[in-house]
Parts: sequence; C-alpha cells; structure tokens
Amino acid sequence: MGRSIGVLATHYIWVGVVEGTQLGSVRMYPEPGALLDLKSMPADDFMARIREQIALVRGGGPIDSVGVGLPGIVRDGVVDDSPNLGQLKGLHIAAQLAAGLREDGLDAPVVALNDADALAAGLAATRGTLHDFLRVWYLGDGIGFGRYPRIAGVWEGGHTVISLDPKERFCGCGGEGHLEGIMGNRAMRLRFLDMEPEEVFAAARQGDGRAQDFVKLWHRALAAGTATSIHLEGPGRFYISGPNADFVDLGLLGAYLQDMVKMSPLQGSFFEVVPTSHDLALIGAAVSSTMRQ
Ligand SMILES: [Zn+2]
Repeated sequence: MGRSIGVLATHYIWVGVVEGTQLGSVRMYPEPGALLDLKSMPADDFMARIREQIALVRGGGPIDSVGVGLPGIVRDGVVDDSPNLGQLKGLHIAAQLAAGLREDGLDAPVVALNDADALAAGLAATRGTLHDFLRVWYLGDGIGFGRYPRIAGVWEGGHTVISLDPKERFCGCGGEGHLEGIMGNRAMRLRFLDMEPEEVFAAARQGDGRAQDFVKLWHRALAAGTATSIHLEGPGRFYISGPNADFVDLGLLGAYLQDMVKMSPLQGSFFEVVPTSHDLALIGAAVSSTMRQ
C-alpha cells in the first residue's frame, strides 16, 4: 500500500502519514494552547511551517503524494479565496509546496483541495464507499460543504441562498440570504447579541419563544440548502459534522426536507451525524492526493 501525507489547515496545521486508509503518526502546529493565530501568519511562514511538520512526521521515509485541505475555494492547486485564511488568497499552494518539498528532499506530487471535500473523501475512504457519491455539511464558525468524489467546480454550498429576506445579511462573506448567515456561529452571535450559540439552543429547549423560532429557522435553512443540492445533483447521503452538529434534530430536519423535495425520483436522501474529527479530513486529503488525474 502507498504511503502519503495529509495536511489540514484550519485553526491549526495538522499533518499525518496515511498508509492506504490508515492514519499513522500525526503532528499539529502550533501546540494546543499556544497563543498563535494562523490567521495572522504570513503565507511564507505558513508554508514553511507545513514543510517543517511534513519533514518531522515523515521521518525520511518514502512518500508517494501529499494532499492539503484548506478552507475556501481551492481550484487547480490555487487558493482562489479563503475568508478564514485571507493571506493565502491567490497562493499557488500545490506548486509552491511541491517545490519546497523538493528542496527538503521529497519529490512528490501535491494536491490541494477544500477542507470539507477532504472530510468527504475521508468519510468515503474509512467507510469503504470510495465508489459512491456522498456529501457532507460541516457546521462551525462557517458552513462547509464537501462532496465526494471531487469534481471541477466551486461548490460553496455554505453560501447557498436560502432566504429572500434582505435583512438576512449575517454571512461572513457579506452576501444576503446565505445558509451560513443563519447557521454559522458568527451569524448566530450577530443575531443574538447577548447569547452564545449553545445558549440559544438551550433557551429553545427551556421554552424561549424567540429561540425556538430561530431553532426552527436554523433547521429549515439546512433543509433548504440540502434541497437545493438534491435538486441540482440528485438525492443521496448527507453527513453532518462539525462542532454544531450536536444541535441537529434529525427528525425535524428530515421533516422539513420532505416538505421541500417532492418529485419522486428525488426522494430517498438521508442524513447521518458523524463525530467531528481532524483524522478523517487528514485521511481524506491524503487519499485524494493518490487519486489525482
Ligand atoms: Zn455567504
């Protein structure tokens, strides 16, 4: 079995060795609790830290390929845009990292992909469904949408327009009526200025009317984003991951989706909540790098 490296850059840089679909040793940078924010790290430093971590985790052994998962629009090895890691915008990360690794004595192809696509690939790989189609929602500060298999396109599903109300403008990208503008943590904090997202869901359970209305809206928004995906690409499996997956009521979500998708060939989708894990995205990034064309 081949040995590849998966890299995931979110709040931390994670690097792991993957053999087949098995994750071996993993490193993260910076150390947990360190007062260092990747958002403020210049792109050159960011690349240098990735190279260091790869050298450490690899230990001089042979590596077939490297896959890097990043938030934002990542196409053809280039970070077209990344609202959460803005310094990377325009970076030819695949080519630059491959060149840097050659200097470090590692000549291996590098594939860059969206972090939610890496998660989708990790789910497919670890569940033995590499021949099937699956989608994943990542519910956190932003709303990620991943798809496996990866195909050409943008796939910013978190910015699906799910409302025509011009007051719905809390999305991190600034666009009106977006899914993330309802569901994302930043958006929830802007809507409930004095409450954290978990407090909103707790208040709803305790009978607070405003919070209950919002929890319904939150679920309807996710159903609407999913319904749009179904109307474009057909029914199928939708995994739900991320820190806010715990807030999901699958019964409520399924009922709203049924109201929104009525044509008989489009029936039969289902949701499954999966535990959030960086390991899955690392495996997915590495496995994706072995599937390059
Ligand atoms: Zn948006």
